[in-house]
Amino acid sequence: MKKTIRDFDMEGKKVIIRVDFNVPMIDGVITDDTRIKASLPTIEYALAKGARVILLSHLGRVKTQEDLHKNSLESVAFRLSELLDKEVIFVTETRGNLLENEVKHLENGQILLVENTRFEDLNGSLESKNDPDLGKYWASLGDIFINDAFGTCHRCHASNVGISKYLPTGVGFLIEKELKEFSEIMTNPQRPYAVILGGAKVEDKIGIIENLIEKVDYLLIGGGMSYTFLKAKDFPIGKSMLDEGKLEFAKEMLKKYEEKIILPVDHVVQRENQIVMTAIKETKEDDIGYDIGDQTLCHFKQILQKCKTVLWNGPVGMFEKEDFEHGTVSLLEELSTLKGKVVLGGGDTSAAAEKFMITDFSHISTGGGASLSLLEGKTLPGIECIDEA
Ligand code: ADP
Ligand code: MG
Repeated sequence: MKKTIRDFDMEGKKVIIRVDFNVPMIDGVITDDTRIKASLPTIEYALAKGARVILLSHLGRVKTQEDLHKNSLESVAFRLSELLDKEVIFVTETRGNLLENEVKHLENGQILLVENTRFEDLNGSLESKNDPDLGKYWASLGDIFINDAFGTCHRCHASNVGISKYLPTGVGFLIEKELKEFSEIMTNPQRPYAVILGGAKVEDKIGIIENLIEKVDYLLIGGGMSYTFLKAKDFPIGKSMLDEGKLEFAKEMLKKYEEKIILPVDHVVQRENQIVMTAIKETKEDDIGYDIGDQTLCHFKQILQKCKTVLWNGPVGMFEKEDFEHGTVSLLEELSTLKGKVVLGGGDTSAAAEKFMITDFSHISTGGGASLSLLEGKTLPGIECIDEA
């Protein structure tokens, strides 16, 4: 177990909190503030305990001078101040006299936000390559380090891993919840347990299949990756997405776990200018499959209704297009009615849930890449570096 923010006496202490304020923005306007809101419990807790809060976050990628302007955290500071109903001091630099002065004058229960940590990437990727001096410098500003940026935990950067070497450390409430939800479904799931895997490439999900196949009762495969498995069973797949290099892997899995792996029996295809639902075995040479069909949905639902635990990663169709969203929407609807535990992980899977406004699940992970790494059974550097309780 990792230390958490609850394990510290923070009164009067300078507490550096690494948050994930990597919000989508268009022309400096925040289009979705979910990530800011997700960080509030940790921030509010620290403030209520009398901490002097110093926030660090990245925003987008910074490669050129132009990116500096585009990726400033200034509007995030403004939004955060509205949400907290409290002044947020915004420091326009990532190191220097101004920052040090503002930190020195912070009072108990006050909060400041440092400019985008990736501004340090402009001269040699200091943040992203975890420059040791940078981590040490940021650590010198505080007394305690709390990591609550789950979305960057699979990365080894100066503002999460580098800084942690020099201070007592713990995780915030957001990371605590992510770890709890994932460890429960991966080590001790209530049975029956189903995993739904979809998305585009088999290659991206091999690690997940290998890590979870022994533990699950059912592996339902949909979306682009199902075609490699269907092809491995000699079904016609037309011109649907195929990962040639992974055919052998798919064959091996199907041979070893035939009973567990459930594949689509029908799908929605683009056939010249038409959109047609067809049985997989009747797929024509030029068809391209973009969504699962009704029979498949029905079969998937029958299985899911029996399950006490369901984990879903990867949309089962090209949900970005209205013609191919039905499978993903129907599964979201079905899963939201289940009584057992339902966890959604993966960037596009979470985006689909948000898009269709079906979000009533046990847990929707806030970290795309980080949640995939957890599902693959990998350790995350941003969590490894935190002190044990
Ligand atoms: P996640 O981010 O949740 O891990 P992925 O990145 O693996 O999910 O996959 C999401 C993408 O897969 C979506 O952009 C979706 O359009 C695409 N996709 C799903 N089914 C198909 C399909 N049959 N053909 C092509 N692309 C698909
Ligand atoms: Mg994705």
